[in-house]
Amino acid sequence: MKIETLPEEFIKAQPIIDTIEAAGYEAYYVGGSVRDTLLGLPIHDVDIATSAYPEEVKSLFKRTVDTGIEHGTVMILDHGTGYETTTFRTESGYQDYRRPDSVKFVRSLKEDLNRRDFTINALALKTDGTIIDYFDGLTDLKNHRIRAVGNPEKRFNEDALRMMRAVRFASQLNFKIDPETVAGIEHHGSLLTKIAVERIHVEFVKMLLGQWPAMGLDVFMETGLYQYCPDFEPYKEQLNQLRAELTSGLSDETAVWTLLASVFDLSSKQINQLLKDWKSANQLIDDVQVAAKAVRAISTNEVDAWLLYQTGSNLLKIANEVAGKLGQSSYETATLLARYDSLQIHAKKALLITGQDLMAAGVKPGPQLGQALNFLERQVVEGKLNNQNQELLNAAIKYLNEKA
Ligand code: ATP
Ligand code: MG
Repeated sequence: MKIETLPEEFIKAQPIIDTIEAAGYEAYYVGGSVRDTLLGLPIHDVDIATSAYPEEVKSLFKRTVDTGIEHGTVMILDHGTGYETTTFRTESGYQDYRRPDSVKFVRSLKEDLNRRDFTINALALKTDGTIIDYFDGLTDLKNHRIRAVGNPEKRFNEDALRMMRAVRFASQLNFKIDPETVAGIEHHGSLLTKIAVERIHVEFVKMLLGQWPAMGLDVFMETGLYQYCPDFEPYKEQLNQLRAELTSGLSDETAVWTLLASVFDLSSKQINQLLKDWKSANQLIDDVQVAAKAVRAISTNEVDAWLLYQTGSNLLKIANEVAGKLGQSSYETATLLARYDSLQIHAKKALLITGQDLMAAGVKPGPQLGQALNFLERQVVEGKLNNQNQELLNAAIKYLNEKA
């Protein structure tokens, strides 16, 4: 089959392929960009596969970066765009269930496509629009099916991450996973524990950001794959509930983990543990702790000024999105944001009084100074005091006298 009009991204990349071909090698567009074009979806990165060896590729272009040269990948820089160009290769070994023991560069496109995970990802595209399809990927695309290239049992045994990739593509594309491929996941789920958690994390989040999360979650749960993800085993019931309730994807990673924290009913400490076990960045952990607290308040209709202030507008949006997905919000996001905007201050440093002012008025330095400022902060946020220098000073002195 032939694509009549190629997306602009491919047209822009054509000089790269032309240069490689002019030197006597083969080169094709491959991977997600080909799949997504055929599905009429926008494409992110254009990947190229070539019969030229990495050193040969490098000799043809002025600006290249060795992004993964030991696996055959060289990034070609062209007018500000980077093209990952990977030499046709086969892989063998996989004694650790995740990385091939050796990659061998080959000159055959078919061998290269043969090592790819799913038939819909094993298509190649020529610059004239011709699609090369050795594994019936086009039929599977048409039938909305995710099917391993070759024997799924063997393919998941080679690289267990592919099982997570299967469920995330199902949720991104609204595709069904072929029964034999599902059976492969069922049999090999436990191998997921051999995979670096960071990589599982990426695929899991992509699954919940997909537009049809239930498509992936169904298989994730039914095959038992979830049990081999960090800390998920005790939450079967909650994950199943999620799968039933989640009819659309989430907007970002913070929302994903906030949703899980809410469905699992985790304390701040438990959120910290879960996210640490999932090798998350500290900023994400902090944000999820704050957002999950806000989800609770939203669910119980207890959103007050102090909670709005502590949560901040960004996380408020996320918290209300999550509570909404769980059918637990009676707030409009715009209303919450308007209430937040109308607070007198949005940060402690916006208080129109400083520690210096208090000391100038005779307050001695020490912990009580900080306590007084905290008191003022909360009073101003709650609208019990105006953010006005003299009023704050009087209130601080009164507060400290009463405490003494
Ligand atoms: P996305 O749109 O999310 O980038 P993609 O299909 O391009 O999807 P990538 O992770 O960018 O996914 O990988 C590019 C291609 O490399 C895939 O389409 C597939 O052909 C191949 N590939 C990636 N990971 C694996 C894997 N673990 N096993 C086999 N082939 C893989
Ligand atoms: Mg890609």
